[in-house]
Amino acid sequence: MTDASVPQGIDTSRPTVARAYDALLGGKDNFQLDRDLATRVEEINPGTTVLAHENRAFLSRAVTYAATELGLRQFLDLGSGLPTVENTHQVAQRAAADARVVYVDIDPMVLAHARALLEENDHTAVITADLREVDRVMSDDATRRLIRPEEPVCLMLVSLLHCIPDHDNPFDLVRRYLEPFPSGSALVYSHLCSDRRERADDFTSGVLASGAPWGRVRSPEECEAAVAGLRVVSPAEDGSYPEVLVDCDTWRRPEAAPVERPADKPIWEH
Ligand code: SAM
Repeated sequence: MTDASVPQGIDTSRPTVARAYDALLGGKDNFQLDRDLATRVEEINPGTTVLAHENRAFLSRAVTYAATELGLRQFLDLGSGLPTVENTHQVAQRAAADARVVYVDIDPMVLAHARALLEENDHTAVITADLREVDRVMSDDATRRLIRPEEPVCLMLVSLLHCIPDHDNPFDLVRRYLEPFPSGSALVYSHLCSDRRERADDFTSGVLASGAPWGRVRSPEECEAAVAGLRVVSPAEDGSYPEVLVDCDTWRRPEAAPVERPADKPIWEH
């Protein structure tokens, strides 16, 4: 994207995670500093671009599962990212035309670009908000219009909580969002993690050096805090694999067996 086509109110003086992620996915809604950040993280951790694509494919499989297997009809997609292919509302509404989706993202570019896509979709809305302001998100007009508190909800925190620093208690946020939802609700979740502390710290330092807001790449054990007290769905379609968090590209992927801790990947997502 050239500076001539910068939407009003968008700051291009430093990169954002949403736009750098868009660059990793091969999108066009990003600027030079975002592309520089995407290049940098790929240098620090070769394979990050592939991982971003795998994460999107996981999101699509998980939303399809929530809509078809669990029968969920309302989706709260926190840190949704810029519109790309196979967005949550497209996947969910393909499975169930009456599915309702609220997208929440801190980056105003998301709303700027999603508007056109959603203009004729009464069942979908985008809010520009910081997910740490739980009350603000839940009391927003769009949330109140589309999310019925008495019905189960599919809460989505996909590739997001590594953007939230420890002092903002990322895993308490999961509980605060889930608590008021009735039984039958579900969480779709992935988080950048690494067994190798040094690599995780290099990735985190690289993003922070760019000026983009960021939290931390965490260990697999730390990432499990998000699902404490929840039943994990078996990552294998036939239920043959234990109910544990796995590498996202192997979750219910017909052609790949689930992998809990792949030894040959420097950084992966659960
Ligand atoms: N969930 C999408 C996916 O998995 O394809 C996008 C993931 S992208 C790596 C992380 C997104 O979270 C970005 O769009 C970023 O703007 C958003 N984000 C980061 N911190 C946030 C916050 N505090 N509140 C809301 N959104 C946030």
